[in-house]
Amino acid sequence: MTNETWGSMRQELIASVGRNNFANWIEPLELDALEDGVATFRVTSPFVGDWVSRNYGDAILNVINKSGRPAERLVFEVGPRREPAAAAASAHGAPANGVSANGTPAEVTPSHGPAGARASSDRAAPAVLRGEADDLPGPDLDDRFTFDSFVVGKPNELAHAAARRVAEGGDVTFNPLFLYGGVGLGKTHLMHAIAWELRRRQPDLRVVYLSAEQFMYRFIQALRERQMIDFKQLFRSVDVLMVDDVQFIAGKDSTQEEFFHTFNALVDQRSQIILSADRAPGEIEKMESRIVSRMQSGLVVDLHPTTYELRLGILQQKAERFRPQFRDIRLADGVLEFLAHRITSNVRVLEGALMRLFAMGSLVGREVTIDMTQECLVDILRQSDRKTTIDEIQRKVCDHYNIRISDLVGPKRTRIFARPRQIAMYLCKQMTQRSLPEIGRKFGGRDHTTILHGVKKIEELRGKDSQIAEDLEMLRRALEA
Ligand code: ADP
Ligand code: MG
Repeated sequence: MTNETWGSMRQELIASVGRNNFANWIEPLELDALEDGVATFRVTSPFVGDWVSRNYGDAILNVINKSGRPAERLVFEVGPRREPAAAAASAHGAPANGVSANGTPAEVTPSHGPAGARASSDRAAPAVLRGEADDLPGPDLDDRFTFDSFVVGKPNELAHAAARRVAEGGDVTFNPLFLYGGVGLGKTHLMHAIAWELRRRQPDLRVVYLSAEQFMYRFIQALRERQMIDFKQLFRSVDVLMVDDVQFIAGKDSTQEEFFHTFNALVDQRSQIILSADRAPGEIEKMESRIVSRMQSGLVVDLHPTTYELRLGILQQKAERFRPQFRDIRLADGVLEFLAHRITSNVRVLEGALMRLFAMGSLVGREVTIDMTQECLVDILRQSDRKTTIDEIQRKVCDHYNIRISDLVGPKRTRIFARPRQIAMYLCKQMTQRSLPEIGRKFGGRDHTTILHGVKKIEELRGKDSQIAEDLEMLRRALEA
C-alpha cells in the first residue's frame, strides 16, 4: 500500500474521529510502509505518535484491515522519511539509525479494551514526556527578560503598564490579563518580567509560567499515568498561572476542556491568570467559544508592530548591554539608525542583526560603518526589505503634496503636478524592483523613456535643491516606517 492509497483510505476516519481531530492528528500522518502486518507511519514528534496510537490506533487498524491488507500493529517513527529498507528493518523492531533519542516508536496492537492500549503505549512513552510529575513546572525563566531590559514605546506602553500592574501583586484587578501580538514583539519577555518581579516581591507566591504546549504535555502525561487528580491539584494550587502562546491548544479538544476547568477554578479562588497569544482571543480559530469569552473577561491588550523610534530605542539599549562583551567596538554614526530603518520585521531579528554586527566589528577591529553593516547583514536586510509598492508610493506622494492620484498619474503638465509625479517615479525606481516599463504603466501608461527622464531629473535636482532633498528624505522615511 502506498501513501496515496492511505491518503484516500483515511478519509473514512473523518466520521469516527470528527473533523477537528482528523485535521490535527490523522491528516499529517504519512504512511512509510505496510509489511508483514506492520504499518509504519512517520510523525513529526514522539508526542504525536504517542497520542495518535493511544486515541486513534484501533480506528486506523480498522480501516487498513477493511482495505484488505492485514495489519496487526502500528509503528510511529519520528523524523524524516527513511529509505524503504531501513523502514522495513525497524518495522521488525530493530532500532534504526536516524531515530532521535526520544524518538522511540510508539506502538499499538489491537486492544480489547482500554487497558491493553494503555499498557502498550506506556512502554513506548517518549522520555520527553516524563518530568517531575509532582513538581510545579520549573523556573524556566530567561534572566535577560526583565522589566529593566524592556524598552517602552508607543506600540507596547499599554501592555507594559498592565504587566507592571499585575507584577505589583495585591488585589487582582483584571483577570485574566491577555497579551497578544505578532511574533517577536515581546510577549514572552513581558511574561517572564512579571514572573521575576513577583518572585522578587513575594518569594512565597506560587508562580507558574509555562507554554501552552507544555501544559498539554503535562496534561497528556497525567492522563497516561492516571495522575489526573495530581495534575488538577497541582494546577489549582498556584497563585499565579501564566500560559504563553495559548493559540497552541486551539483545536485540541481535551486539552482545551482541561484548560477551561483549570482556568475557572483559578478565577474562582482569585488566583491571577496571565495568557499570551499571537492574536486576539476572538480570532483564534478552533478555540471553544466559552474559553474565548473567559479570555475576554479580563483585560485584553495588544502589542503593536514596532515603530522606528521603538526600534532605535531597543537597539541603543542592546548596544549598551553588549558593550562589556565587546569592549573595543566602535559604531559609526548612523549605523543604529540605519538598522532601525531597514529591519522592521521584529525585535528578535533586530537583536540577531546587532549581535552579528558586534561580532564582526570585534573581529575586524575597525569602526563599523554603514557599508560594512550592509555587507555583513546582506541576507537579513534582503529578507526584511519591506516590499514597498508603487501604489503606496503614489499615495504617500499625493498626501505629501496634497494632490489627487488622478492628477499624479494624469496628463497635466503644470509644475504642481509634474514635480510630485517625477518624485514618485524616482522613488518607485529606487524603492521597488519594478522595471521602467512597469512603472510607466502605473503612471497612466507613460513610456519608459518618460520615466527615465523623470528619474534623472530628480537625481539632478536632489543635489542642488535642498527642499527636494528634504522631501525625498521625509517620503522615504514614511515609506520605510
Ligand atoms: P514574542 O514572545 O512576542 O514572540 P519575545 O518576548 O520572545 O517575543 O521577544 C523576542 C526578543 O525581542 C526577545 O529577545 C526580547 O527580549 C526582545 N524584545 C522584544 N520587545 C522588546 C522590548 N520592548 N525591549 C527590549 N527587548 C525586546
Ligand atoms: Mg513568545
